[in-house]
Amino acid sequence: MDKKDIKNLALEEFKQELEKISEPSYRAEQIFSWIYKKGIEDFDAMDNLPKSFRNKLAQSFYIGAIKPLKRLKSIDGTEKVLFELSDGNLIETVLICSGKRKTACLSTQAGCKYACAFCASGMNGFKRNLSVSEILSQILYLAYSLKHGMTNFVFMGMGEPFDNYENVSRAVRMMNSPKAMGIAARRITVSTSGIIPGIEKFKELGLQVNLSISLHAANSGLRDKLMSVNKKYSLEELLKACENYISNDGRMLTLEYMVLKDINDSQKDIDDLAKIARRLKAKVNIIPYSNIPGLEFKSPLKKDIEIFKSNLLKKGINVIVRESKGKDIMAACGQLAGTLTS
Ligand code: SF4
Repeated sequence: MDKKDIKNLALEEFKQELEKISEPSYRAEQIFSWIYKKGIEDFDAMDNLPKSFRNKLAQSFYIGAIKPLKRLKSIDGTEKVLFELSDGNLIETVLICSGKRKTACLSTQAGCKYACAFCASGMNGFKRNLSVSEILSQILYLAYSLKHGMTNFVFMGMGEPFDNYENVSRAVRMMNSPKAMGIAARRITVSTSGIIPGIEKFKELGLQVNLSISLHAANSGLRDKLMSVNKKYSLEELLKACENYISNDGRMLTLEYMVLKDINDSQKDIDDLAKIARRLKAKVNIIPYSNIPGLEFKSPLKKDIEIFKSNLLKKGINVIVRESKGKDIMAACGQLAGTLTS
């Protein structure tokens, strides 16, 4: 019989699996507590479980792990961990510290099939989706091995979260579940480059998790050039899906806009971006581009970012500049490549 990774199972599923091996379902909650509340991933260390039960557990289940290969710390406090998955694929996870805020930036895929022009994650192609267990393991490693008390969790690492919708939404539920990680929904943000079916299903999920749209270009022609996803889901369709997302239940959206010098920072770009933000009643996060070796884009000057921001403010847009952290260790937005040399 194939052993099951407990971290891929929701509590109810795990209870049913235990019943199949004639064990009481309340044991599932005890084991969840060891894994998700104490960070214990070894059956032998779960000392409130009878030894005979622990042996039986190990015959049917295992607790999946990802292996940290390399840890880098930036001069600004940002940390990046390169993990090896069980099949040898590599992913990266980042911890961004800003005052009291400690944000875990999680990966959802090894590689990315969308290969946006300004992003390192898709440069080596797409390898595979991460399992629920592999997504949750990134958090558990930061929380229990590195002892970081995280305040926020963003799905903005390697991969397009909604291209791995099932596992990402299951992971989000586990993060939010009081019986598992118990993280408040408002502290979790999922970011998509514009996968419309994902946006639609995400609304139905019914959790108060934040949604961010990686817009990066405010007109279709430019978005086609920068983001291949635009060829599949056009900007206008995306905006309609966003309108539908915010309708009825007071949900809000954030637009992420990476500023690329002389590419998407003209007055016309600002006007178009303001129009979209107004239409979606969305907040705008401006992210200055950070250099990626091999790409020809240039980072905007600080003063140009200030002008960009104040132009949006003048148009009544709620805007903040998201400082690029961890540039010196290639951990800033768009820089995660998932290679041993990064
Ligand atoms: S920005 Fe997101 S969707 Fe685009 S290549 Fe990078 S990880 Fe993939």
